[in-house]
Amino acid sequence: MNALESMKLYFNRAADRLGLDDSYRKLLLTSKREVQVQVPIIRDNGELQTFVGYRVQHDNSRGPMKGGFRYHPEVDLDEVRALAALMTWKTAVVNLPYGGAKGGLAIDPKTFSPRELETITRKFIDGIHDVFGPDIDIPAPDMGTNDKVMAWIMNQYGKYHGFSPACVTGKPVDMHGLAGREEATGRGVAIITLKVLSRMNRKPQQTRVAIQGFGNVGTFVAKFLSEAECKIVAISDVSGAYFRAEGIDVSAALRYTHEHRGSLEGFTGGTKISNAELLALDCEVLIPAALGGVITKANAASIRAPFVIEAANAPTEIEADDMLYERGIFVVPDILANAGGVTASYFEWVQNRQHYSWGLNRCRQELDAIMGTAFQDVWDAGKEHKVSLRTAAYMVGIKRVRRAAELAGIA
Ligand code: GLU
Repeated sequence: MNALESMKLYFNRAADRLGLDDSYRKLLLTSKREVQVQVPIIRDNGELQTFVGYRVQHDNSRGPMKGGFRYHPEVDLDEVRALAALMTWKTAVVNLPYGGAKGGLAIDPKTFSPRELETITRKFIDGIHDVFGPDIDIPAPDMGTNDKVMAWIMNQYGKYHGFSPACVTGKPVDMHGLAGREEATGRGVAIITLKVLSRMNRKPQQTRVAIQGFGNVGTFVAKFLSEAECKIVAISDVSGAYFRAEGIDVSAALRYTHEHRGSLEGFTGGTKISNAELLALDCEVLIPAALGGVITKANAASIRAPFVIEAANAPTEIEADDMLYERGIFVVPDILANAGGVTASYFEWVQNRQHYSWGLNRCRQELDAIMGTAFQDVWDAGKEHKVSLRTAAYMVGIKRVRRAAELAGIA
């Protein structure tokens, strides 16, 4: 089942619990606008290549739409639709004044030169500059994009609309970005993980954690959880997984990736195992922090960790989610667990609009407070309705979006 079908089923489960009627289900499952544009470039070797860029703006009942741009070979319209809707529920769960959107290009950024990537990004913005902006829809980084790409977006958008740093978030700190944005998704995942452990009366020192993915999110999850004294027993990236029962030296792994162009290939601070073995490790917390759709009905039975914290977007297929639930495995859904990134994006947007900078400490404090409140809201909804945290999170999000749609009025 693809991410869009899974999202709709998760939505409908929560909608059933809320008694949401069919007309509102239709409204909330229909994208507000879907844009598809041609992105042609001349490659460094002189060859003409044409790509398709997507931006799906799912819902703006609660405010301007918000969500990342993904550059990944598997991007397609249905995936972008699913991820855009997840942003709507995510921003509502953390109660930001935003709706949801997502965009992307089906390219592998590693196969392009920096000049080619810049050209692709600028051409993409040429195609969509009139449908986004600080009060309409604000892009941000996602898989395969980073602060540099966001800087090009701000610059290209500015050519049409003038100086508008709030048109995009996740920018470099030296170009109207926010100290604390880069770490925020990982920090939020760590905050939520520690909250779950404390509810379960488990000490971080007694907790073994396996993290799949060592990119922007996975690295910061590892950093913050090891600082909190959890034992990070495994990490991984496309080169494979690395296991050490006594705990990986996270600072050494971070240093290694900095010296090896972001890759763990050749890292000797752990025994090499496969990504499938990482998912099945004997540990307390499993954190998928890479691609979507990695926990499937084929491997869900092998998962041994009693807690799964979804740092990636849509890492668990619905059949697998049901299998985990039946086995009593506690899953914290993406729309709560990884909402720290968009929350820090909100802080960046607020500061850009005020032309005033808060500093890292205030950003961290406000992030911790927002994640704490969202966790409490979802936890309480789960207890009240006796549902999984995923259904509870969807219920919290959908209820808020529906209320806003109703208040705005549909004439
Ligand atoms: N791409 C991130 C997400 O999926 C962040 C989006 C944003 O900051 O707008 O939540």
